[in-house]
Amino acid sequence: MIARLRTQIRRKRYNDSLRTSVATTVEMAVTDPLTGLHNRRYLDGHLQNLFDRAVTRRRPLSVMIADIDRFKSINDRWGHDAGDAVLREFAARLRRNLRGIDLVCRYGGEEFVIVMPETELTLAERVAERVRIQIADVPFPVADCRETISVTTSLGVAAMKAVGDSVEALMKRADIALYEAKARGRNRVVAPAA
Ligand code: GH3
Ligand code: MG
Ligand code: MG
Repeated sequence: MIARLRTQIRRKRYNDSLRTSVATTVEMAVTDPLTGLHNRRYLDGHLQNLFDRAVTRRRPLSVMIADIDRFKSINDRWGHDAGDAVLREFAARLRRNLRGIDLVCRYGGEEFVIVMPETELTLAERVAERVRIQIADVPFPVADCRETISVTTSLGVAAMKAVGDSVEALMKRADIALYEAKARGRNRVVAPAA
């Protein structure tokens, strides 16, 4: 009896440890190591769910894409490590200005996607503007905080339409809005109503 229990306990411990290591591997696969934010793979796996849920419940949903302005010149002037520090601080400010239910992802290089459930376009635009100000108004520390640099970001915002919308179309509208923010001179939010 005791021998059998021991075997059972050993088996249970082994299974638990396997499960933990699988969970850690999955977590790593969907996390951006530099910023600790979710990565593009995570977004691709979850955006459709959030979208479907919003449609079913007839609730609003908005997305915003933030892209750091002239980031290449930050790297060129201050070095790649300073660029990385800017990305980390940028991610921290994003998180600080968003809610727990918002999905914040590093989509690629210096581009971030934020999905905001329960959020209409006008509110999403206000949030984007708050983020823009939080980035532009407070210089970023670099070189072990011995210097600071000004950073700005452009943001494109789009909201889900009540009928005939799709994840792809929604992301496309946010991307076009971002492109327009860049074209109009950067450090701005574009949130077209249509
Ligand atoms: P724009 O205002 O039009 O967005 O200009 P930009 O310079 O920000 O855009 P561009 O796409 O030309 O440059 C993005 C740069 O981001 C180029 C790339 O070297 C840099 N980058 C991408 N990923 C990383 C990273 O993980 N760390 C650092 N330090 N730089 C990165
Ligand atoms: Mg950029
Ligand atoms: Mg970019």
